[in-house]
Amino acid sequence: DTTHGTILYLEDITVSFDGFKALNALTLYVDAGELRCIIGPNGAGKTTMMDVITGKTRPDAGSAWFGQTIDLLTLTEPQIAEAGIGRKFQKPTVFEQHTVLENLELAAAGNKSIWATLFSPLTAVQRDRIDHVLETVRLQDRRDTRAGVLSHGQKQWLEIGMLLMQDAQMLLVDEPVAGMTPQEVERTAELLLSLEGQHSVVVVEHDMNFVRSIARKVTVLHEGHVLAEGTMDQVQNDAKVVEVYLGE
Ligand code: ADP
Repeated sequence: DTTHGTILYLEDITVSFDGFKALNALTLYVDAGELRCIIGPNGAGKTTMMDVITGKTRPDAGSAWFGQTIDLLTLTEPQIAEAGIGRKFQKPTVFEQHTVLENLELAAAGNKSIWATLFSPLTAVQRDRIDHVLETVRLQDRRDTRAGVLSHGQKQWLEIGMLLMQDAQMLLVDEPVAGMTPQEVERTAELLLSLEGQHSVVVVEHDMNFVRSIARKVTVLHEGHVLAEGTMDQVQNDAKVVEVYLGE
């Protein structure tokens, strides 16, 4: 355990689809404030794992806890989001016709009506919060820009900002740099690293150079369970990992 301690506990999680085990006794722990990368060949179970954490898929067996007290397997998807686990899919889903600022306001408001949210004045606290998030996701100079005209990378950052506005303690991020320019990739690495310590971030990514540039600890999934775990150098030199990747 680090000073922060474990925040996500997945133990012996099995998910079967028509008898095929997409996850097979998967056990994985993530520390509070940690930035973790999950890699693995296609079909390894990465998406299914994210689906279990967010309540989209129920495992046949195993346990999943968020902190010491929240049993994820008893909660619905909205309840899990409410508990502080936010997910960002590969394709950004922002409100294209609204500005960056409005997107952040709407994210914070949750289920309140769009009309009520956008036409009530911001409190000083809300304004500070939004400024802080804008700075974190590097969109200060895009605050009044319509989200629809942002670059692909900027949309991805805005969506991370929206998760932050929703008070996500843990962010699950699916292939954040797919389709980005090299400059955007670099900024995304900086952004995710800047969350370290404050948020737990689990990144699923295929771009190995990117993983190398951000990862503190890498988990390699294969056939529904953890094949190896460690630094990028450790897992890249692991004989089991080499075999799996060369065999692809
Ligand atoms: P990854 O994200 O690592 O590529 P997935 O979690 O998407 O892997 O898939 C793991 C395995 O489970 C794959 O073989 C996939 O075909 C299978 N699978 C995933 N979802 C379903 C589903 N809803 N029905 C049947 N098989 C599925």
